[in-house]
Amino acid sequence: MNKERKIVTRGRRYRSIFRFFSKDMAMDLGTANTLIYMKGAGIVLNEPSVVAYDKRKDEVLAVGKEAKNYLGRTPENIAAIRPLKDGVIADFIVTKTMIKEFFFKVQKINPIFKPKVVICVPAGITQVEKRAVLDAAEESGAGQVFLIEEPMAAAIGAGLDISVAKGQMVIDIGGGTTEVAVLSRSSVVNSATIRVAGDEINEEIVKFLLREKNLKVGENSAEKCKIAIGSAYQVDGLSKYIISGKDMVENRPKEVEVTPEEIRKAIREPVLAVVETIKRVLVKTEPNFIEDVKRDGIIMAGGGSLLQGLHLHIQEETGLQCRLTEDPLTTIVEGSGIVLENLSSYQKVFIN
Ligand code: ADP
Ligand code: MG
Repeated sequence: MNKERKIVTRGRRYRSIFRFFSKDMAMDLGTANTLIYMKGAGIVLNEPSVVAYDKRKDEVLAVGKEAKNYLGRTPENIAAIRPLKDGVIADFIVTKTMIKEFFFKVQKINPIFKPKVVICVPAGITQVEKRAVLDAAEESGAGQVFLIEEPMAAAIGAGLDISVAKGQMVIDIGGGTTEVAVLSRSSVVNSATIRVAGDEINEEIVKFLLREKNLKVGENSAEKCKIAIGSAYQVDGLSKYIISGKDMVENRPKEVEVTPEEIRKAIREPVLAVVETIKRVLVKTEPNFIEDVKRDGIIMAGGGSLLQGLHLHIQEETGLQCRLTEDPLTTIVEGSGIVLENLSSYQKVFIN
């Protein structure tokens, strides 16, 4: 149609052909957030793992950030769901749709030159779950898929040398799951996963407000309260917080003041579950690896590890030094990105 379009120099033509190749990606498919790293470009997407769809028409309305606004306040015909909430692909179709939409947001995938994709999965994932992730990615347009365990990606993202023969402990506290793993020589030698993490803490805050203050609040409000004043340890500088919700006795909007101490007490159970899991992994770890962990300390990543004072609490409970990675919410995708950029040197870490 456009005459000028036909006059393409050789060099130009090659360039435009190259644009047809889909760019390789690394994806942290989290229970709360999905992040995508694109080869040569870095992190290009960071959005909640949420899908909103119209139940009557069976049609996707929104994914990611936009869909999160629907959570807890959806009209009858609209469902906003987190397909990975429990750490596994519970809803296959919705998960696939979500991956597809996220891929589409970052690039137009060429069906012939499909991208290689590195995907992080929880350590200890079952064969069935592995298959589900692989199928979902392939059906969403991915070419070759490489699966890597999240604690491994976290360690790489934290800058650890994972190939060494010593034991290194990594904890990833996400929204739906907490993973504790000991790594050595590019593999996970010992790990445990529980379905208790950041979400469970929000739920405990919701329950506490209902039980003790007759206040009904949504999960998003509880999360805001947690981030503002939630803690696992006596931390200085936290003040009271005003949270709004619905008074369950008088059935009208109400504001309630809560203290950091009340919240700390309310979230004790999930915090305890995390600590118990770390202790359980330590108990089944070989003594020489324990010596390494004692010397180097524990690395913490995942958004849940940002709970104030949590690393201090774990330190006190285990007697081991604990440190957070530079940006716990992006460490895992950064690690997967490093793997993507150097695929050939990380062959040992892939689990498929
Ligand atoms: P996932 O890998 O499961 O998607 P993320 O690593 O993205 O999870 O972490 C999400 C969790 O981190 C959520 O439960 C969120 O409430 C929690 N979170 C994020 N920021 C903070 C913070 N500053 N303090 C406490 N929790 C936080
Ligand atoms: Mg995660």
